[in-house]
Amino acid sequence: MTSNRKIMVMPGDGIGPEVMKETLRLIDWLAKYKKLNFNTIEKDVGGKSFDLHGTPLTDEALSDALECDAVLFGAVGGPKYDDLPFEQKPERGLLTLRKELDLFANLRPAIVFPPLVEASTLKPEIVRGLDIMILRELTGGVYFAEPRGIDVLPDGTKKGYDTNLYTTLEIERIGRVAFDLARKRNGKLTSVEKANVMFSGVLWREVITDLHKNEGAGIELQHMFADNCAMQLVRAPKQFDVIVCDNLFGDMLSDCAAMLTGSLGMLPSASLGSPNKDGIRKAMYEPVHGSAPDITGKGVANPLAQVLSFTMMLRYSFGHSDEADLIELAVSDALSSGARTPDLGGGSKSVSTAQMMDLVINSMDQKAR
Ligand code: NAD
Repeated sequence: MTSNRKIMVMPGDGIGPEVMKETLRLIDWLAKYKKLNFNTIEKDVGGKSFDLHGTPLTDEALSDALECDAVLFGAVGGPKYDDLPFEQKPERGLLTLRKELDLFANLRPAIVFPPLVEASTLKPEIVRGLDIMILRELTGGVYFAEPRGIDVLPDGTKKGYDTNLYTTLEIERIGRVAFDLARKRNGKLTSVEKANVMFSGVLWREVITDLHKNEGAGIELQHMFADNCAMQLVRAPKQFDVIVCDNLFGDMLSDCAAMLTGSLGMLPSASLGSPNKDGIRKAMYEPVHGSAPDITGKGVANPLAQVLSFTMMLRYSFGHSDEADLIELAVSDALSSGARTPDLGGGSKSVSTAQMMDLVINSMDQKAR
């Protein structure tokens, strides 16, 4: 099997390059054992790009990213850049990429790997076997809609205000991604809003209901108020399969669901854009964590969030689910061996970034024999 899709690799700052270096071993492995070839191109982003080129994202890097099928992103930022003006901060590189690629759908899986059940703050029976997906609308809603601002009132006091606004088309396009995801998983979709108190929520529910009638064959749809969803996520999270919500509720619910799994070092994410005429979406895959300056250079960063971001890329951009499954099984094997980077508690078998990856690759080698 061959594939000549193009991946933009952007390691970034801090532990970004450390976890990216280990993850790229998977690309070599897939070429060698599965005859699956990806063309990669690497560009600076964030603080490193600022140091070398005076901007967190060069025009050239942006235009190359737009040409690629998918972007594999590490992390950006660090204390060295904290005092830079807003436009030059490392995070601007990331935000510009998200905006220019029009990545409106943010996918955050919350999966509890069996060996890590004890790492969750919830009881083992609540999280054992957990595998849910939160889909957050990323480019609309209260973080962007106008009017917004802080005005001075006639009496000298101020008013701060934001607008939560969604159009039919914005809700439909995130709804389509949600139905698509549910179809590829267990066929269950929970649409979340506050239609009891918000007009944008009333429209959200109306549009998702219509879309379900027209395009949701085979999908079991339920609606839930956002406050109830937050409660249900910590009470009985396994009742969910895919949850779709707006930008604001998604921000909170995805963090809540993520922490059910125990460690920031295990959390991948994907951000998808609209399909082009060939049905291919622009996409960016990145760990949820940042550049972790406190452990940079020590060789102890957990590479698995970056690895799992890569498996999301295989699954959602390239349709290579078998290879994604294989890598995820190897991750589970590595963890079952007792290996733990310090963020996972270290424990009796404390391993480095490279040693964790050695275990993943060894397990894949055995499965490929
Ligand atoms: P962080 O995610 O970098 O680190 C939080 C804590 O988690 C730290 O103790 C860190 O050591 C630990 N951690 C994170 N990832 C880990 C991993 N893979 N393995 C082991 N431990 C891990 O968040 P922060 O400390 O708030 O931010 C540090 C810098 O990263 C800041 O400059 C921030 O702006 C930036 N940041 C970038 C992104 C991004 O690039 N998407 C996201 C969040 C923060």
